[in-house]
Amino acid sequence: MNAASLINFAYIVASILFILGLKMLGRQASARRGNLISAVGMLIAVVVTLLDKQVVNFTWITIGLVVGTVLGVICARVVKMTSMPEMVALLNGFGGLASLLVGWAEYGKIRAYGWDRYLAEFAGNPVFTGSAIFLAVLIGGVTFTGSVYAFAKLAGLLGGKPLLFRGQHLLNALMLGLILAGGGVAIFASDPALVLAGFATYLVVSLVLGWTFVMPIGGGDMPVVISLLNSLSGLAASAAGFVISNNVLIVAGCLVGTSGVILSVIMCKAMNRSLLNVLFSGFGSGAPGDGDGGGVIQGELKPISPEDSFAVLEAARQVVFIPGYGMAVSQAQHQVRELADLLEQNGAEVRFAIHPVAGRMPGHMNVLLAEASVPYEQLVEMDAINPMMASMDVAIVIGANDVVNPAAARDKSSPIYGMPIINAHEARTVICLKRGKGAGFSGIENHLFLMPNTRMLYGDAKSTLQAVVSEFKSIAAG
Ligand code: NAP
Repeated sequence: MNAASLINFAYIVASILFILGLKMLGRQASARRGNLISAVGMLIAVVVTLLDKQVVNFTWITIGLVVGTVLGVICARVVKMTSMPEMVALLNGFGGLASLLVGWAEYGKIRAYGWDRYLAEFAGNPVFTGSAIFLAVLIGGVTFTGSVYAFAKLAGLLGGKPLLFRGQHLLNALMLGLILAGGGVAIFASDPALVLAGFATYLVVSLVLGWTFVMPIGGGDMPVVISLLNSLSGLAASAAGFVISNNVLIVAGCLVGTSGVILSVIMCKAMNRSLLNVLFSGFGSGAPGDGDGGGVIQGELKPISPEDSFAVLEAARQVVFIPGYGMAVSQAQHQVRELADLLEQNGAEVRFAIHPVAGRMPGHMNVLLAEASVPYEQLVEMDAINPMMASMDVAIVIGANDVVNPAAARDKSSPIYGMPIINAHEARTVICLKRGKGAGFSGIENHLFLMPNTRMLYGDAKSTLQAVVSEFKSIAAG
């Protein structure tokens, strides 16, 4: 086997590890191992690439590795689980920027050598190589600025509301036209000044397009946008792979590209919205209370104390926890686990109902509950728990709102109409833990909180759960 075959063999091994890792990420029990297997695949790919290419200077590569490793370790340790979507957005952006820089550097080489010498030396096809370079710059640029904008929205640096104005789509179309024109000039013009102007236009407008693409999308829809941008970063990486003729980069980019699209579609389905609706409807721009059923919501909020909650729970035999974004905000997963254990010791059967878009990222609740060592067998998917819901003595809703809002099933005017929900309202008693009257991500009222069988346990979920746990413990001790 010659060196080239060995390298390609190593790339195939790395690609297989990526695919196995991705597959294992689909199940909570195997996700950690999947992550590790993919990381090993990437290590093989990087090491083999460094051995393969005629690296002219290892200094910069070493500096990059050290800086990247230090930053990666700091981020992994410091960034909270609730900030994970922001971090993913930034990492996507860096991926896009890297592809843009590869395309830009290669274009610089063409300008320096001239097409003829470049093609002779690097054995490329002019149309193919040219397209790959320009796609890497365009998609990488859009991904970079789009991801930075998504990060700023999620981090609260920019308002979460969608920014809409007249002629927005026309402006985006005009920018696409400018990008095409700039690219054409950069490729075909012979005057160096014109070439430079064409490429600069292409680059700058690509960057602006990423910004304006994300601008009309609300903060709550950012997880879908981020997964779409993740997909774009994969496509940009693939284009960069074609530019530098690196097979493993092409494969890895395609895997990221397709898995990002699949994830976006899964999220849209779980919200009963189309991808086009997420990208272009400006969801979340209405005033709070929009689509609340035109005032049909009646009833009153009935507060309950931790002591009375304990009394209700002590008598319960079937209990279901329904976690949502508020659990993530208050980091109450350990208290949830403690209460669940006490309920089990008290003879109750305990389950956790998992809605596919509870929280702010796919698998958000699974990750938090796994962190608190809740056994996987107790987690029940929405479709499996709903038929059991009427037999539940108590449903404890921990900072969930939209995913238990009956308006999604009943109120055709509701923005979330059609989104599948967990039927918490069917339980005999519902105890909702939240801080006050804050709306969920969609900004609409929730009839569940006003229903006769619902009680509101107000306060930060972690403290209120702790108070209920203390009640259980004091009764057991006394
Ligand atoms: P939600 O509708 O956003 O509601 C969260 C609730 O938690 C709020 O009503 C808030 O009320 C309460 N809360 C916040 N901090 C709290 C704390 N410290 N203690 C107790 N309660 C607290 O959450 P959800 O039911 O999980 O629904 C998720 C939403 O995000 C869905 O609309 C979904 O479509 C959307 N989304 C999710 C994803 C995803 O991938 N998971 C992606 C895109 C969009 P108070 O302010 O009164 O406390």
